[in-house]
Amino acid sequence: MSATSRVVVVGAGVGGLAAAARLAAQGHRVVLVEQAEGVGGKLGVERHDGFVFDTGPSLVTMPHLLEELFADTGAPLSQALDLQRLDVACRYTFPDGVVLDLPGELAAIPAALDAALGPGRGAQWTAFLRRAERIWDVTHEPFLESPVGAGDLVRLSRRVGDVTAVAPWRSLRALGASYLQDPRLRMLLDRYATYTGSDPRRSPAALAAVPWAEQAWGSWYVAGGLGRIAEALLQRCRDLGVEVRLGTEASAVLTDRGRASGVRLRDGSVLDADVVVANADATQLYSRLLGGPVARRQQRRLARTTPSLSGFVLLLSLDDPPADQPHHHVLFAEDYDDEFDSVFGLRGRGRPVARPTVYVSAPSDPAIVPGPGTGAWFVLVNAPRHDPVGGTDWDAPGLSASYADTVLDLMAERDLDVRDRVRHRQVISPADLERRTMTPGGSIYGSSSNGARAAFLRPANRSPVPGLYLVGGSSHPGGGLPLVVLSARIVADLVGGA
Ligand SMILES: Cc1cc2nc3c(=O)[nH]c(=O)nc-3n(C[C@H](O)[C@H](O)[C@H](O)COP(=O)(O)OP(=O)(O)OC[C@H]3O[C@@H](n4cnc5c(N)ncnc54)[C@H](O)[C@@H]3O)c2cc1C
Repeated sequence: MSATSRVVVVGAGVGGLAAAARLAAQGHRVVLVEQAEGVGGKLGVERHDGFVFDTGPSLVTMPHLLEELFADTGAPLSQALDLQRLDVACRYTFPDGVVLDLPGELAAIPAALDAALGPGRGAQWTAFLRRAERIWDVTHEPFLESPVGAGDLVRLSRRVGDVTAVAPWRSLRALGASYLQDPRLRMLLDRYATYTGSDPRRSPAALAAVPWAEQAWGSWYVAGGLGRIAEALLQRCRDLGVEVRLGTEASAVLTDRGRASGVRLRDGSVLDADVVVANADATQLYSRLLGGPVARRQQRRLARTTPSLSGFVLLLSLDDPPADQPHHHVLFAEDYDDEFDSVFGLRGRGRPVARPTVYVSAPSDPAIVPGPGTGAWFVLVNAPRHDPVGGTDWDAPGLSASYADTVLDLMAERDLDVRDRVRHRQVISPADLERRTMTPGGSIYGSSSNGARAAFLRPANRSPVPGLYLVGGSSHPGGGLPLVVLSARIVADLVGGA
């Protein structure tokens, strides 16, 4: 596209904000509409009596992608955000009570594994990571950084050595089992499947690239909370002249002679456009915003995927929190398979996990608490989607409150008892996430990676309707902040400069 285009971006999640900033920097006239009263989408923030909580992401990985986004659209990231690398990436407490503080530096990991889990564990993990790095090398350019299409499959399959590395016929679980003899290392690896909302037994071995990327580039925090990323992106959009309309819901994507021609808003008014970028979940786009045979075909494709899992979130305002808490702490379940069986359920009928893995984020940051001796903790467990018809109805009276008690009791059982320190608590259930972000079922990552073909069924960034593009976690290359930021780069490249 060579002339200045009128672009409408639907949704101000990280994907929508990043795409809007890039397209404005490329010279287009951009209007960004967001149904909520604030930006950020799943990267949300809650405030209560001086406590500040991130309600979504708590971990930044691959920070160079954020740096690239800021550099490409104006002043560098360091002028907008204070990114801090964590010395301890995460503390893991295993079901046998063993505690591992995983270092934030790759070189220090083998010794830490030997010390916590026993001699030889570092070597097992290193051998696995070598394979994971090879998978990353082969996949990141054609699969993560380019618009995916059938051609990429063909290109990859011509390079037989590469296919052997990626092992598309194997699951992440199976790949791990061939390198990792210690069941705790296999558990550690399984958890990375949940970074894409998936089941390690059914997701492809290619997901081994996830721990590689995390451990190679480190684990990061943003001073003041990750919500600052959304604030900084909003500011960047405004600096570039993007017109941001909050509290403005799109009700349809309009077409004219087969091309995207604008967006109808809920109040009935129309925004004309040459290009429409949908940051709204792909399921919403193809089932509600767009009509006709093209949308129905895309809906049928989506129906062949398994939606990603959701999350049950507890925000805890604590008095006198335990002193020695690391930033991230994972308390593993005794039976991880039961967790995945419950969340994905038989025929998609998920149910809350009886004894889930519990993840606690307890940043030590004075900017997010009202004063010394207090803590703003984010607690997350994997949860089935909100599905009042066939699965779990998270709005059922009493369910969220009693499940919050279950999670707090489990933490206590696993030596992290904060029950008598809770000044205030707030639950965000999958149903709440659905309402806040208009994400069907509250699926965090769109479709999951379950199944060998999942990556190819994931909606493409260029829709079959000319002029209509998809950005964000429910489209290619997938969910999580780094991939969402990549999807914005792909879309901006596809649209081109003015
Ligand atoms: C509990 C939780 C923990 C997470 N942890 C991490 C983590 O530690 N690290 C990490 O990298 N990622 C994490 N993620 C994932 C990450 O938050 C998402 O992948 C990412 O924020 C998705 O961004 P997005 O732009 O694709 O979509 P969204 O954030 O869903 O944004 C879509 C936006 O579109 C708006 N919208 C929808 N429909 C309409 C409409 N019709 N009209 C107008 N506006 C509309 C929505 O309100 C929303 O603001 C987590 C997510 C959750 C929920």
